[in-house]
Amino acid sequence: MNDRIYNTEKSVKLMELARRVTPGGVHSPVRAFQAVGGVPRFIERGEGAYLYDVDGNRYLDFCCSWGPLILGHADPDVVAAVREQVGKGMTYGASTQLEYNLAKFIVDRIEPVESIRFVSSGTEAVMSAVRVARGFTGRDLILKFEGCYHGHSDHLLVQAGSGAVTFGQPSSAGVPQVITSHTAVLPLDNDAALKSFFAEHGDRLAAAIIEGIPANNGLLIQRHEYLRLLRELTAKHGALMILDEVITGFRVGMGGAAADYKIRPDLLTYGKIIGGGMPVGAFGGRAEVMDVLSPVGPVYQAGTLSGNPVAMVAGLTTLQKLADGRIHAELENKTRQFVERLSSALTGITVNIARMASIFWIAFQRDLPRSASTIDGEGIARYNRMHDSILRRGIYLPPSGYEVCFVSAAHTDEMLNQAADKLASLIE
Ligand code: PMP
Repeated sequence: MNDRIYNTEKSVKLMELARRVTPGGVHSPVRAFQAVGGVPRFIERGEGAYLYDVDGNRYLDFCCSWGPLILGHADPDVVAAVREQVGKGMTYGASTQLEYNLAKFIVDRIEPVESIRFVSSGTEAVMSAVRVARGFTGRDLILKFEGCYHGHSDHLLVQAGSGAVTFGQPSSAGVPQVITSHTAVLPLDNDAALKSFFAEHGDRLAAAIIEGIPANNGLLIQRHEYLRLLRELTAKHGALMILDEVITGFRVGMGGAAADYKIRPDLLTYGKIIGGGMPVGAFGGRAEVMDVLSPVGPVYQAGTLSGNPVAMVAGLTTLQKLADGRIHAELENKTRQFVERLSSALTGITVNIARMASIFWIAFQRDLPRSASTIDGEGIARYNRMHDSILRRGIYLPPSGYEVCFVSAAHTDEMLNQAADKLASLIE
């Protein structure tokens, strides 16, 4: 691993230039490193487990583009498939067998997905799934959970209040209150609040949406019974359950979180890994529900680049490499060993590392939280203060204490052992 990184001159310069033409210089806010300070690195290339910036520095990457890169950067098979497809044209605006191949691959393996449609991002997948749920049930109300992120469509940018249930406070300027007034928010991990919500509002609920494993406010690993209770209550009240597997889909195993919980959601949303690093999202589920979509049914949804052929081959090549379960098993083992090595080296520090498969989250607090309100803000601040010094030693952690880390198939045991030892020496 490299020694201390001093030279970030070109990244600094590029950020200055970028700010002149782009708000904050970035095309997605967290990339500005506002929470952690330090210089946002401009990346020149990625290879395997490493990122290389424009100043020639190398970083062991635990962000992995926020989850898609389960095989690491520039996996040779994915790159070859993409190269071949690019030569045949990048988009046709017409159907291809490639769309069918990826759809069939997923439908064959994910039991609750009987029918699927591709879009271009996780946000679009969730936005469309919610519209389908409303169209199918003829109801407007949706329920989400505090701490879960489902992309930035208007009706899901909702703030949680302090009560058991709150309705419709937009969490972003530019979102009319009338839009979020149909979105209820509940705390996670609270059976009583869930039951009383359904008793009062269940019969007018179109859908409840929850992350497979909430991984956007730390890693809030839920009790299986809680997810099963949500499944039971939605079914009982004629509402749909949407499981957002944008992060967990094909990450925690071939069956995603739904298989782990042994539940059958009505709709599931995907992104990240299913595009193999290209911009892809998808939503799918019960065929009877999906058939409300245009051109079969009355719910409109469309996309110029939906099912993009280059993205389809990147996704399919990635999923085919995962199909026999070997990579997931290896990822499970090496991430567990890494977390154990790091945890046992961090003696005398109040720290807990949450892990699910190859996702981990470093939490500077005694107990691992299961709900957003039990995340210790001081622990997040502590992570944020350390980020820059860790980055300067060649380890790229996500630039916010609320974000989770990912391990890829390209991370070797040796890299992980070295990283655990280095992190242990830098964490204070
Ligand atoms: N749902 C979940 C669970 C996510 O983690 C994300 C993004 N991190 C989204 C939806 C939105 O996906 P995208 O950024 O591709 O729009």
